[in-house]
Amino acid sequence: MVLQHKKVAVIGAGPVGLTFARLLQQSGADISVYERDKDQHTRIKGGTLDIHHDYGQLALEKAGLLDEFYRYSRPTGERSVDQHGTLLLEDYPAEGHLYDRPEIDRNDLRKMLLEHLDPGTVCWDRRLISLEQQSNGTFFLHFENGDTAYADLVVGANGGMSNVRKLVTDAIPQYTGTIVIQGEVRQPDFQCPEFKLLCGSGNMAANAECIFFFSQTKSDGALTYYISFRKPEHWIGESGINFNDRQETILFLSSLFVNWNQVYHELFKATDEYTLLPMRRLHPEHWKPHHNITLIGDAAHVMPPFSGIGVNIGLLDALYLSENLLDESFINIDAAIQAYEEKMFIYASKAQEDGAKAEESVHSEKEFDERLRDKR
Ligand SMILES: Cc1cc2nc3c(=O)[nH]c(=O)nc-3n(C[C@H](O)[C@H](O)[C@H](O)COP(=O)(O)OP(=O)(O)OC[C@H]3O[C@@H](n4cnc5c(N)ncnc54)[C@H](O)[C@@H]3O)c2cc1C
Repeated sequence: MVLQHKKVAVIGAGPVGLTFARLLQQSGADISVYERDKDQHTRIKGGTLDIHHDYGQLALEKAGLLDEFYRYSRPTGERSVDQHGTLLLEDYPAEGHLYDRPEIDRNDLRKMLLEHLDPGTVCWDRRLISLEQQSNGTFFLHFENGDTAYADLVVGANGGMSNVRKLVTDAIPQYTGTIVIQGEVRQPDFQCPEFKLLCGSGNMAANAECIFFFSQTKSDGALTYYISFRKPEHWIGESGINFNDRQETILFLSSLFVNWNQVYHELFKATDEYTLLPMRRLHPEHWKPHHNITLIGDAAHVMPPFSGIGVNIGLLDALYLSENLLDESFINIDAAIQAYEEKMFIYASKAQEDGAKAEESVHSEKEFDERLRDKR
């Protein structure tokens, strides 16, 4: 294989980087993952991830982790609710399809993947700050804590703000016109009991006045929810709102949701932590010549979450890149990488197009109502 006697460095211990590491390590590759988080117990912000049977689960199956994944994940229903707090529809996966798109907590997915890597594979507290390619094609990696490392192949799996990306493409993710405010409630049963009754124990979606609301319950009962709406990028600065300030964010949401039922307002006041997430998209195209380096996951093609496919596309990257690197028929690393990138550009571009349509549709009341009618 092209990786014989080669050292592989993966930047980022997100779901995609860790799955890629597992896929290569089970075939004997020499691989290290460098992650900026302090340790494996660092809390990962954000809601649950649905891993689809025809996308992300293919990579987990190849990694020998599908049964383990089913133990950690759970089939999840979705409630559709209106702005007045009335339940419109409850949708649950049908018998025989329970594990088509089960949800898993981000920390549980990381835990599961780490349990199946050799001890010491992940080097924690290693924020990559720069990467130098030598004339012989190998790399020196420099980390914030002063450490350095060497690698023959670098795989950037460090998310939408990747600093590895600039060695591969000059393209930068573009703002899509959508702002997401993410809220987290640790103990919703006590902090917002009315809302908890409304959302149940699965996902909940609502749409009115061009605002999309989506909440998810995690395995420990905590809630993560997303509020999204369309605004030009300069609105963030011009609004004068400090979204790092919890009280200011609650005030803003109170005015945005002025025509919505008080159950939503109960939720906003109960929220422990808010994060502002302007949505960005990167079309995976026009990559410049590069050697012994590539990108997978959000680093390659970050996309807004409205079609719920981002991590799934990333897991396909991990699968296809690892297959090529282990395939005897490629003459060298660059040939294996090039074949992966050509394939990825096609499916990731398609996912970007579908995602852009979903982004339009979830912010349109008319289309939301039509989707609801189709589900009934
Ligand atoms: C609000 C929201 C909701 C979403 N919901 C869904 C969903 O329901 N379904 C779905 O499929 N997708 C969803 N996504 C997308 C999904 O979160 C991403 O596609 C997925 O996390 C990408 O995985 P990754 O491993 O490529 O990157 P990440 O998960 O971003 O992991 C990157 C890792 O790299 C590390 N890192 C970053 N910089 C450095 C550095 N310089 N040095 C070392 N380490 C570094 C980070 O700490 C992190 O651990 C959602 C995204 C958002 C924003």
